[in-house]
Amino acid sequence: MIDSGLNAKLRSIPAMEELLNAPRALEFYASLGREQVKTIIACVLDEIRRELCAGVVPELPVEELALRRAETALQKRAFSTLKPVVNATGVVVHTNLGRAPLAAEALNAAGAIAGAYSTLEYSPESGGRGRRNDHIEWLICQITGAEAALAVNNNAAAVLLALSAVAAGREVIISCGELVEIGDSFRIPEILAFSGAKMLAVGCTNSVRIDDYRAAITENTAVLLKVHPSNYRVEGFVKSVSREALAELAASRSLVLMEDLGSGLLCRLKIPFAGREHSVKDCLEAGCDIVTFSGDKLLGGPQIGVIAGSKTLIDKMRGHQLLRALRVDKMTLAAFEATLRLYLSGRELEIPVVRMIEEDAMALQKKARNLCRLLRETAANAGQSADFSFSVVETRDAVGGGAFPANELAGFGVGVRSVSRGAESLAAALRAAQIPVISAVREGQVILHLRALLAGDEKRIIAAFTGMFAGS
Ligand SMILES: *Cc1c(COP(=O)(O)O)cnc(C)c1O
Repeated sequence: MIDSGLNAKLRSIPAMEELLNAPRALEFYASLGREQVKTIIACVLDEIRRELCAGVVPELPVEELALRRAETALQKRAFSTLKPVVNATGVVVHTNLGRAPLAAEALNAAGAIAGAYSTLEYSPESGGRGRRNDHIEWLICQITGAEAALAVNNNAAAVLLALSAVAAGREVIISCGELVEIGDSFRIPEILAFSGAKMLAVGCTNSVRIDDYRAAITENTAVLLKVHPSNYRVEGFVKSVSREALAELAASRSLVLMEDLGSGLLCRLKIPFAGREHSVKDCLEAGCDIVTFSGDKLLGGPQIGVIAGSKTLIDKMRGHQLLRALRVDKMTLAAFEATLRLYLSGRELEIPVVRMIEEDAMALQKKARNLCRLLRETAANAGQSADFSFSVVETRDAVGGGAFPANELAGFGVGVRSVSRGAESLAAALRAAQIPVISAVREGQVILHLRALLAGDEKRIIAAFTGMFAGS
């Protein structure tokens, strides 16, 4: 027997037609289409029905609950979920936030190529076919000193293609200390297996000698592989082998020395610990035959992966079937070319990532003071001065993207405290803004790091606070 209370509740669920014709629903027809609005409302009504049957006590009268939930569900689908945010975390290359924001010239180049036909694979000179890689190869060679270069979708693809072309069916020797996992799902042993190469790990986690490599070489060995330990550092008793020594060994046994450098550093950075990262040029000069790196980490360009080095080896990769599946899109290529040209002409400070990393602490302090003042004014105007307090604080910022994993950049930020709400809830409210503000929480306060802010972000932060004050 169904209890009559439940029956009454089920009956009070509004009819589909009623919700579909509600003025609030009509507003969503333009953006979502009537069919989608109907599907979304049907899901909401089903969910409420199931909850009532399971004995859940509704927090509101059922009719109102249905209206509210329908509106929330429609809102969620009506707006793009991939949208700009303010990066107030102090991590310059933040993988979850899309890594490198592009330089203005790179943006313009991508836009121009995206909305038109182009010379992507066409040569106006001959009137015949051209190669998409030709637009960037010379630039990479000029900047890094490489003989040849090839671009693919990302660095994971670069490593996979290079190993597939050079080491499939053969052995690759790598130090145990470099069996790296980066982010989720990029694991060196798995990529190696996927490429068809056989992995031989030598040495110990904290120590490897040149003789370990030498002893592992067989007639079936193809590659000595070096991998950048992007997100960790081994401290204490550590022994590793220099690129020069590995290069000498590789050359003497006709093997390929390949390095997965991760972050593609192309210039000298003016920061105190700059020497801890090697540039692509350094690695090639030290004797690497092949270096692979990302375009959207330290390099500051779009998502891309580059293989730079020996022409003979790169020609092998050009002919590999896998390349067709990993090829780079025209917008990316255009943005990458424009970014490379900034390096070529010595204008790397126009690349946001480079500028942010090199930004001096005093300049950040000045910006923090200014933002702090604006926030106090905003709080005062909203009558929230008693609840909210703002102060300039010192911060430890990070380069991110697997570069300088153990070093921090001294920076400045604004600390925000509220009497009425905790730091986590404050951070969540800032994330809920129309343009979400992603902050850090430390010692019971929200910290807005200044280092990775872009032009106009201060205004967006003020807007997020204004919205929060209006809603509270
Ligand atoms: C980041 C990184 C990768 C993966 O590069 P993606 O461009 O994200 O594919 C591979 N190897 C190393 C050492 C890295 O740091």
